[in-house]
Formats: sequence, structure tokens, C-alpha cells
Amino acid sequence: MAFLLEGDDAYQLVSPSRLLNPHWVGFSRSAANLIGLELDQNGLPKEAGEWLQLLAGNQLHAGNINFTDPKASVYSGHQFGIWAGQLGDGRAILLGKIADQEIQLKGAGKTRYSRMGDGRAVLRSSIREFLCSEAMHALGIPTTRALAIIGSTQPVMREAIETAAVCARLSPSFLRVGHFEHFASLESTQHLKQLADNLIAHHYPECLENKHPYLELFKMISARNATLTALWQSVGFCHGVLNTDNISLLGLTIDYGPFGFLNQFEYDHVCNHSDTSGRYAYHNQPQIMHWNMACLASSMLPLMEITHSKEVSKKLLTLALEEFPQIYQDSWVQLFRAKLGFLTEESGDIELIERLLIAMHQSKVDFTCFFRGLSKISTENNPTNIEIRNEFINRDQIDLWFADYLSRLLRENSIDEKRRSALNEINPKYILRNHLAQAAIEKAQKNDFSEVGRLLEILSNPYEEQAQFSTYAAPPPIHINDIKVSCSS
Ligand code: AMP
Ligand code: MG
Repeated sequence: MAFLLEGDDAYQLVSPSRLLNPHWVGFSRSAANLIGLELDQNGLPKEAGEWLQLLAGNQLHAGNINFTDPKASVYSGHQFGIWAGQLGDGRAILLGKIADQEIQLKGAGKTRYSRMGDGRAVLRSSIREFLCSEAMHALGIPTTRALAIIGSTQPVMREAIETAAVCARLSPSFLRVGHFEHFASLESTQHLKQLADNLIAHHYPECLENKHPYLELFKMISARNATLTALWQSVGFCHGVLNTDNISLLGLTIDYGPFGFLNQFEYDHVCNHSDTSGRYAYHNQPQIMHWNMACLASSMLPLMEITHSKEVSKKLLTLALEEFPQIYQDSWVQLFRAKLGFLTEESGDIELIERLLIAMHQSKVDFTCFFRGLSKISTENNPTNIEIRNEFINRDQIDLWFADYLSRLLRENSIDEKRRSALNEINPKYILRNHLAQAAIEKAQKNDFSEVGRLLEILSNPYEEQAQFSTYAAPPPIHINDIKVSCSS
């Protein structure tokens, strides 16, 4: 079965629109590897010219690859907590599959689901999606991947005139919670069943061993999204638009828009300029993901009712949904223990982590630099000699915390050398800070794509020292600390 969804009411067969004067802006060798692409000495596909036209959407073949039925799929969703009805791939076109990856062109032109949109994506948002997809992957966080960005001279109108670009994405599947919601809203149990059965067959075969395969499917999707959210929190990633149509059924980070990594730690940081109520603030992400899983559960209810009474179905799904907070919390504690270099578990750990986060919030300490800096600490240190202590306003408070932290390390006989290397494998040195993406975008808008390539290289090894690039690890200069990004893309 090709793309898990079947039938005219599930997708539109539609070819990408022509893109004017396409050119390479970025290319990920690591993503290319996923589909077994052979590369030339420039690090581009062997038939570079053909691949350029293919990824721009100007032709459907390259080398021995030939796509015959590109499609856009329909889904619905809740946007900012409100039912938005039918949405769908309004600017993303699925070309087909290579190896086990679906390849999708984002910004490839209008589809039946474009509504008022022009089907395009601008260069700046394509660069952000490309870099962040690959950066998240390198951080070890489940995500859709980005193979390439193709720029063009094609004008598109946003707040001002910009140029269109295409981001070629790879994923085993681009299915979202919104796909279930769509068919639930149409009361089409037949489509829901087809969706669930295909999802199980291709991505969750373990469910078949369970007495309640659909319930198990829900539990697995929910668990993956719970651990995903804990991973986001652990690197200070704010997605920005956690609408149900942007939540993957495979538990992947998907649809990079006005996302942002925390610079200074502020637990209520909002990265999306359009999110005036702060619904998608950093500290709300776990709760919001749980809410999204509730939407999924309610749209999977008719599936449970195929074999169970309404009451039993509701009860089983409700209980399954209630597992989310515990799964989330367990992964969160495990991640933050590791971020602090603990190998054992103590009952006071949550309190210790929370005390630290409160102190960091109060002093607006850089999240990434702080955790990276922990590897410099020795258990022989006196709290007042610890360099990162100086980043805190309330020194007494942080000295007390460090004293408790050092005692905690000593209680588990932590060995400095071992802890250091473990810490440097979990606390990244490099993240895609907004000001870095912005610098790459501004150069690219002047046809200099070198910074896109450099950032891709640096962010592909976020845990390595890469001393020559140390300036890229620094927090932004104060005056550009608070770049907020809007939904306009
Ligand atoms: P996003 O905010 O990118 O997740 O998009 C939300 C919905 O709007 C999806 O259905 C998109 O396909 C659609 N959309 C966003 N931008 C455009 C555009 N420029 N043209 C057509 N549809 C769009
Ligand atoms: Mg989306």
C-alpha cells in the first residue's frame, strides 16, 4: 500500500507547480544517506541537475527514480484549542517513497487544500525548517528530516515580497493526529479503520499481538509523544504551534514554523509572536501534548466501539490517556538526572532539579550554556569557586544549590572524568539559536548560502567541542535576545 491513505476523499493527486530558476540553498548528506543517494565530490546527488529539478517540483524523475502519483492529503485539526475543520496539505506534496522514507516537497504549490494560501513557502522559513530538522536529529530527538532546500527567483507576497523556496522533507510517514480527527469528524469509521490498520501494519506491528490493537496503537502514539515532549523540554525547544494538525502519529517533531530554542531560561517563554495567550509557552508543552492526545483518543473512540460498548470504549481510552503524565514525568526526570550527571536515582531529585530551574528562571541564565558548563565542575570544588555561579543574581541561593548538588554527586561516588564525558554527551554545546538562523537567512537572501552550510555542519555535531566554532555556542548579544518569530511563512 502506497501512502497509508486511500481514496479520493483522503487525498488529491496533484503535481507540484513550476518553480522559477531553482538553485541549491542547502543539502543534507546525512538525510541523503537515508535514501541511499549517491553523492558527487561536491556533496550533491550524482545527477545533481536532475535532482535539483525534481526537488524543485519541476519534474517527477531523477536518475533511476520516477514518481507517478504525487499527492496532497486531507486532514483536519484543532488550532490554538479551537476546532478548525478541514485543513490538509495546502502546500506540501508527497512525491512518493524511496527506501522506507516518504519524500515530501513543502512549498510546492497549490493543492485542493490550500484554502486562501498560495501553496508556497518563503526562503527564510524553509531555511529554518531545514536546519532545525537536521539539528534535532543530531541532538537525538525524533523528527522528520530535511534533504534539501531549493531556492528560486519566484516572488511570493508575505508582509513584503520575498522569494519562494521548497524544503524537501523525509519521513517514514507524515501522518498527524489531524488525520484521525478528520475522519472522526466525518463519522467515517471505515476510513478511521483503514488509517489505523495501515498505521499498525507499517509502523506499529507490535499492536497486533495485543488483545486490543487499536487501544494499544493509541497508547503507543501517546507514549511516543510524551517522551518526545520530555526531550524537547530537556534541550529547551519550544515548538511554537502545537496544534493537533502538527502532531505526528509516529511521535516525531514535525512542521517547524515559529519554533525557538530557549536562550535565557524562562519557563513561560513564548517563541511564537502570534501566540498572544501563551498557550504554547515552554512550560505548557507537556500539558498541551496531553490535550492533543485527548483529541486523538476521542477521534479513535469509534474504532474501539467496533468491538466494545460505548461505555467500555470510553473507559479504556480514558485510562490509556491517563498514562501520559506519568510517562512524561518519568522521561523528564530521567533526562534531567542525566543532564546533571547522576547515575543513580534519589527521591529528592525532582526537588533538586526544580530548585535549579527556579533559580535559573529568576536569574535568566542561559539554558544551554549552564548545562554544558556543568561538565567543568569537580566534586572537589567549593560551591563559591564554580564559575557558572556568577551567572546567578542570588548567589546565596545558588551556592546552597551547588552545595546540595556536590553532596548528591559525592553520595553516588561520582567520578569526575566519567561524569564529564557523560555530561558532554547529553548537554549539547550547539543549538539552533534564532539569531544564528537569522544570520544565515540574511546572507542567503543575498545569495550567499555559506552560512546555511556552516550551521548545518556545526549543528550536525552538537555534542562535539568544535573549538573553532565556539562563538556559535554563545548566547545572543543582549540587543537581539528576544527575536520572536511569527506564523508568516
Ligand atoms: P502550518 O501553520 O504550516 O502548520 O499550516 C497550517 C495549515 O495551513 C496547513 O493546512 C497548511 O497546509 C496550510 N498552509 C500554510 N501556509 C500555506 C500556504 N502558503 N499556502 C497554502 N496553505 C498553507
Ligand atoms: Mg502544519
